[in-house]
Amino acid sequence: MFRSSDRQNKPQEQKFQMNRRKFLKAGVASALTAGMVGAMRTLPVSAAEAVASTGSSGSVNGARSKLHPKVDYGGASVRFVENNDQWLGTSQIVGTVNRTHEAEQGFNLALRGKLSSEAQVAMYHYNFVMKHPFDGALGIFSNYVSAENIVGGTPNQEKLPIPDPEQMSQNIKDTAYFLRADEVGIGKMPEYAYYSHKAPFSHEELIRDDISHSTPVTEKLPYVIVVMVDQHLETMLASTGYDGISSAQSMRGYHATAVISVILAQYIRNLGYNARAHHFANYAAAMPPVTIAAGLGELSRTGDCTVHPRLGYRHKVAAVTTDLPLLPDKPIDFGLQDFCRVCKKCADNCPSEAITHDTDMVEYNGYLRWNSDMKKCAEFRLTNSEGSSCGRCMKVCPWNSKEESWFHSAGIWIGSKGETSSRLLKQIDDMFGYGDEIIEKYKWWLEWPERYTLPKHL
Ligand code: SF4
Ligand code: SF4
Repeated sequence: MFRSSDRQNKPQEQKFQMNRRKFLKAGVASALTAGMVGAMRTLPVSAAEAVASTGSSGSVNGARSKLHPKVDYGGASVRFVENNDQWLGTSQIVGTVNRTHEAEQGFNLALRGKLSSEAQVAMYHYNFVMKHPFDGALGIFSNYVSAENIVGGTPNQEKLPIPDPEQMSQNIKDTAYFLRADEVGIGKMPEYAYYSHKAPFSHEELIRDDISHSTPVTEKLPYVIVVMVDQHLETMLASTGYDGISSAQSMRGYHATAVISVILAQYIRNLGYNARAHHFANYAAAMPPVTIAAGLGELSRTGDCTVHPRLGYRHKVAAVTTDLPLLPDKPIDFGLQDFCRVCKKCADNCPSEAITHDTDMVEYNGYLRWNSDMKKCAEFRLTNSEGSSCGRCMKVCPWNSKEESWFHSAGIWIGSKGETSSRLLKQIDDMFGYGDEIIEKYKWWLEWPERYTLPKHL
């Protein structure tokens, strides 16, 4: 386990950065040194084809947006897979997947006193105390989009006829991009993604561990639209992953997707169809399964977060469930399961040791996943005394996109080609110091370390 002081080795980070820039200039010669081109020769198509293929595989899935006709997978080789009784994308279903109670989610467990007493106090104050000047109820945590009559509502009585679901899907994707989504996908809604119950809104009841006023979730709509927003590359490059900006980075994505989702849901209701937005301040469904269903990621080593082929963990999503006639996309397979088996960078770097180093997955609630302990993650994010929350796994994951270059696109393509090539990409990623670097020139936010220790009492 390390703390941030172990990660502030600036001279070494600058050396790596220098090497990478020289490498990118020198190009092929350095690539030969790394064995990369040699590896490419053993693979079915050339590196040039790999780079050229960026996004092309997206053209056969679902409906294409006019504004984003090519899906940007960052160079990954992507194939489309199933959402059925045996599989959700690349996650294998081996039994009955039970719907979960929102009160079992990490931060609610903290509030209910199921983690440490420190975490309970921290969670209680999280929304009210300004850990970072950007945080706090009047800062980036504002949840003005949470009300039930904003996330949902009654559809217009007059229904617009939709003779062509594919064209409607294109329109929905264009609308989401117009509203500034970075990625959008449409999935068949997995029923088990809905929570069984919503937790009580009252913090006081949760602190007493009284969940008797939980609300059963009865909605059952056939489609889910998922909107994704990048958490910002340059900020991530300048951050340790758990300093003063980490919470705000996350909330940036949450807010942006929340606003898109409530507008999109209202637009659909105006067309005469049911639609409910699900976002950070009011979910009735868990986001990882819907993200997979909509073709925007695979389940990762953390056990309950998804990785996108271009953005890695560096994204947030919100969703809209609906009965608007749509043409769903299929889940994607870009080789993450093989990659996670050999990579383990997030496990090596997790400050709370929440992420497992296991080689194999385990059965959990009727499906296979990595045996990571997200309670430890919630505990660390709440009690982090070196910043506000944490996104260290996001920073170090090789799928977290870097500077745009042929080298990076080709590397991502190699990484999506199975276990042997995954090992190679991971070695290249380590060799060039990706994930370890702190690029000072991009740092723009204030640090206020005196605020990082929260009150000791409720
Ligand atoms: S966010 Fe959680 S899982 Fe990821 S590195 Fe931090 S503590 Fe570990
Ligand atoms: S850091 Fe490596 S092991 Fe962890 S999620 Fe990313 S690819 Fe998988």
